[in-house]
Amino acid sequence: MPKKEQNSTHPLVFYRAYRPQRFADFVNQEAVKQTLQNAILLNRIAHAYLFAGVRGTGKTTMARLFAKTVNCVNPKKSKTGIEPCGTCESCTDIEQGKSLDLIEIDAASNRGIDEIRELKEGIKFAPVKTKYKVFIVDEAHMLTMQAFNALLKTLEEPPEHAIFVLATTESGKLPATILSRVQRFDFKRLSSRDIVKKLKDIEQKEGIDIEPQALHHIARLAEGSIRDAESLFSQLVAFSSDKKITLDEVEQIIGSIRFEKLHEFLSHLVKRDAAASIRYLAGAQNQGLQIYEILRLATTLLEKILVLKMDAGYVSELEQEFSEEERKQLGELAAAFDQQMLRRLIREFLAALPQTKRSALPTLPAELAILETFSQ
Ligand SMILES: [Zn+2]
Repeated sequence: MPKKEQNSTHPLVFYRAYRPQRFADFVNQEAVKQTLQNAILLNRIAHAYLFAGVRGTGKTTMARLFAKTVNCVNPKKSKTGIEPCGTCESCTDIEQGKSLDLIEIDAASNRGIDEIRELKEGIKFAPVKTKYKVFIVDEAHMLTMQAFNALLKTLEEPPEHAIFVLATTESGKLPATILSRVQRFDFKRLSSRDIVKKLKDIEQKEGIDIEPQALHHIARLAEGSIRDAESLFSQLVAFSSDKKITLDEVEQIIGSIRFEKLHEFLSHLVKRDAAASIRYLAGAQNQGLQIYEILRLATTLLEKILVLKMDAGYVSELEQEFSEEERKQLGELAAAFDQQMLRRLIREFLAALPQTKRSALPTLPAELAILETFSQ
């Protein structure tokens, strides 16, 4: 089985194919969904929104869906909300990415100066075919000051037909003047349970057979980003000739590490067994595992163990992410670890992480981090 090679199919294929086309298709972001649907139902649509949150949580997808719903000529209203019809000209134009009234600006690619200037010109004109002209500014925090000022002027006196949706992963970088003029929505990371739910849906529709542990493993790797989860999943499917995926394959193809192996590493650390820890790293490298990934995942586990140590009740929050056996093992580690050493390990590993990524000898920074922790 080849490792970590790029293949000919697009890794994002599932992300595109299964992008939610209705509010009901979103597996989370309940509060955002409900508030946006209510705004449309009650005809209280704001002129400017801010969608803030980490990558891969559905911000631009939600923005497109919102644009589609406000412009749908035949939306379906129900007790719980409103959905676009998906068949009118406006809906199909937006789904096919050819609507003239949905303008998407990627601030990351060219910092948006020309686009915002064009936008200022274009905004004066009423929408071509629909009620609203919707402008989505993706990665809005990347706009230049000049572009922000231009945008601000527009936000101060927006024409009736204009709606702005600013999407950003770093809302802290937006000027206060902009923040004060937008209605803000915070997009939450997806829980592993939500991600598994979505992946299971794809599994069924695509006729894929994947081991449950493998599915949970992918969900955990994605760390709350549905886009990452779906792209990992498509990579795996592209590699598998028979549409059957095992946990072993997930590890080999993605270069990730299962809980069991990380637990082995942590068991050496908790015993302050430097020799065994270092042997483990060498062995892992020989098996073709990425030291960076081991260290990164071990650090996230150590963080959870630290929280567990302070608050045993935290274990219930780990239900979505870990099996019963795994939670039991985490609990045992929490009981056995010395709190001060946990904190030292986390600090040392965090410092070593960027080095393991860059270094030609990635085990070295990891080994030094371990020795450094144990020598204190
Ligand atoms: Zn429609």
